[in-house]
Amino acid sequence: MEKKPFVTKSKIEEIAEQYPTPFHIYDEKGIRENAARVKEAFSWNKGFKEYFAVKATPNPFLINILREYGCGVDCSSMTELMLADAIGCRGEDIMFSSNDTPAEEFIYADKLGATINLDDFTHIEFLDKLTGIPETISCRFNPGGYFSIANSIMDNPGDAKYGFTKEQLIEGFKILKDKGAKHFGIHAFLASNTVTNDYYPELARILFELAVELRDKTGCDIKFINLSGGVGIPYKPEDEPNDISVIGEGVRRVYEEVLTANGMGDVALYTEMGRFMMGPYGALVTKAAHEKHTYKEYIGCDACACNLMRPAMYGAYHHITVLGKENEPCDYKYDITGSLCENNDKFAVDRMLPKIDLGDYLFIHDAGAHGFSMGYNYNGKLRSAEILLKEDGDFELIRRAETPEDYFATFDSLGIFDGILKK
Ligand SMILES: *Cc1c(COP(=O)(O)O)cnc(C)c1O
Repeated sequence: MEKKPFVTKSKIEEIAEQYPTPFHIYDEKGIRENAARVKEAFSWNKGFKEYFAVKATPNPFLINILREYGCGVDCSSMTELMLADAIGCRGEDIMFSSNDTPAEEFIYADKLGATINLDDFTHIEFLDKLTGIPETISCRFNPGGYFSIANSIMDNPGDAKYGFTKEQLIEGFKILKDKGAKHFGIHAFLASNTVTNDYYPELARILFELAVELRDKTGCDIKFINLSGGVGIPYKPEDEPNDISVIGEGVRRVYEEVLTANGMGDVALYTEMGRFMMGPYGALVTKAAHEKHTYKEYIGCDACACNLMRPAMYGAYHHITVLGKENEPCDYKYDITGSLCENNDKFAVDRMLPKIDLGDYLFIHDAGAHGFSMGYNYNGKLRSAEILLKEDGDFELIRRAETPEDYFATFDSLGIFDGILKK
């Protein structure tokens, strides 16, 4: 499918007059329409709730849009819990799906009334000593081995640090019940960025069958099943996008077949999608600053891997549109680079694009999840602003760009930057 930017060149020019590039921009209309589709796709399940994975896009303005559609938040660190706290999330609005968890984070999660999703058997005792075992508790499952769909390997849970083994789950549920837990959840995350409508239904079957077994072997009341994240997006034009209504219907069929048939038709379904909720509705906008002609043709832009790490870290493909040249032929081959002293600082390698002139704006697609949030400060680069393109076409700054003051702020008592910063 052709990938089209959600914003025009003239709008970007207008925004850039006020907020210089690079910046991340988000599409309110796209976020809303998608959130409504997700809600509709699972409306057959009475207790359905999507807990947006905060780590994907930790911006209160954006998360508050999702909350209008009934979403909660999935947190896994102190500051993610603090963000949830700050926007008024409490109790069942918060899923705490952490691992290798510091004591103070369990204590804070407990104080907020968050649903705690334990990553490990030993955390039962760890949590018990800290806060006692709450009435509602969840555990994360790892089936080990390889996870495949239709004979093709999707991922390798056996090599992943997360979750309980099945034996540990059975034993763990019994212990938790003895310690006073009344309602139980199970969770698993077996593959990331799956671009297939079959992932959730396949995962659901594993978890639903496990739920029946756990009920039978432990007598515990299974209140919810959390399918977690992993639903992918079409980063490449040739990728076939997931259809969330097909996914919802696929999960419904397995639910009927396994849960309803076993007298468990009242189990709530939860999801913790990050990428699917926000990925396509954010982009990194950067300006072509330099061209370089050596053994290859390079365009150097004013963003770098610190603003979007996925290409450098995973070799991930992010589609690029040269704004205003949407209909021109892609007959130039470029490496699109940032300014880090790191040769992997490239948003694209050997990419066919229209001829780029200095000052052109590049729209780097699908940066709305695991984009800004994976940013870092290497080479002293500062994090960019985040801007919301509103439904009415207006725009709003929803996070300012970092300044040198922010970068040096952790040298608390060292006055040597004061004079420099005031200049
Ligand atoms: C990262 C993460 C998610 C979100 O994953 P996506 O691939 O963005 O959907 C959900 N749950 C947990 C526990 C995670 O670590």
